[in-house]
Amino acid sequence: MSLLNVDAALQILLEQARAAEGLETVTVALADAENRVLAEPLLAQFAMPPWANSSMDGYAVRSSEVRAGHALPVSQKIFAGHSPEPLAQGTCARIFTGAPLPEGADAVEMQENTAELGDGTVRFSQVVPKDKFVRPKGQEAMPGDEILPAGIRLGPIELAMAASLGCASVTVRRQLRVAVVSTGDELVEPGQPLALGQIYNSNRTLLMQCLKRLNCSVVDMGILPDDAQLTRERLAAMRDVDLLISSGGVSVGEADYLGQVIREEGELDFWKLALKPGKPFTLGRYQGVPVIGLPGNPTSSLVTFLLLARPYILTRMGVAEPLAQSFTVPVNFAITTAGVRREFIRVALVEGRAEKMGHQCSGILRNATQAHGLLELPEHSTCAVGDSLRFWPFSSLLN
Ligand code: AMP
Ligand code: MG
Repeated sequence: MSLLNVDAALQILLEQARAAEGLETVTVALADAENRVLAEPLLAQFAMPPWANSSMDGYAVRSSEVRAGHALPVSQKIFAGHSPEPLAQGTCARIFTGAPLPEGADAVEMQENTAELGDGTVRFSQVVPKDKFVRPKGQEAMPGDEILPAGIRLGPIELAMAASLGCASVTVRRQLRVAVVSTGDELVEPGQPLALGQIYNSNRTLLMQCLKRLNCSVVDMGILPDDAQLTRERLAAMRDVDLLISSGGVSVGEADYLGQVIREEGELDFWKLALKPGKPFTLGRYQGVPVIGLPGNPTSSLVTFLLLARPYILTRMGVAEPLAQSFTVPVNFAITTAGVRREFIRVALVEGRAEKMGHQCSGILRNATQAHGLLELPEHSTCAVGDSLRFWPFSSLLN
């Protein structure tokens, strides 16, 4: 069986995600909308700001009336949140940041360039050009402008923007319900004693936490023992999920029952990815529910989840741009192995250069805790110190 290129695998996953039925929309209060996916574009309903206002504490003037070294009487005081009278001819108005400009005024001078003379007048040290320190009406947006497009994830900045548009709630997609299952007789949950041959289940925590960060609703299906009948029963009891993600049990080993049981009730494609870590990967359907099977080795699970499952999930969630951000960085180590599999190396950024973190075996998770992200070494390539390679930061991949 030939190896499947990572880009081709991603394309298949994204196509399937796009073809899946879109998630229903729900309207939620802004306070509950963090990390939800916006379902409809958000438009400005009014000009922002709705009126010209001052960007400084100072004096609002008719610019043509100001002469250097000359004083004007102060005819009113305008605080933010208060509405002004029209500016009387030949006067200025005390004004504070954010306060509306009075009708007739066309500029503001900051107070540092003025002197209060104590007789109710203020002297200007210089002329004031028209529009100085004025935020014009509609500077940020005009009515009907699209401010936020559909398909973005709402973070603190987008939610603050929605608030400034006056929205108390937003229309978003409902959460994607994802079931997580770990497979293997060797797995034990933390807190239990370990017998010979057993290991603690780390993929369950990894996958559940990654999914929570994506704001999925996670269904914990625990550990499936390596037993066909038990696997059959546990999968049959699964209800109301949009996706099943498994780890382990999908290679070609004798004890890999999950694939067998999924095939009985659906279909399963088994891929050998041209990817390191993370060669075995499955994509299928169990009783109509899409299934993604990740390899069991902890770093293989991590890398295949982040590079393949994550963009699939985000696309199912309605996110328009599901790929994480990446950029190129110089590398401070050499790689001479020209592999047929694309490699993702756990690296830290030190002074902007990628440094390899420890032993890169796929069973080792520890060095990923010290890494800042994954460095992509393309198939059949080598790299020398100082070469630039693509870097995928965990801050973006785990976001
Ligand atoms: P498998 O794909 O089931 O053959 O598993 C490959 C390797 O990953 C084996 O060494 C397993 O013990 C290990 N493994 C599988 N599932 C997990 C898990 N949930 N947590 C930690 N290691 C696992
Ligand atoms: Mg196994």
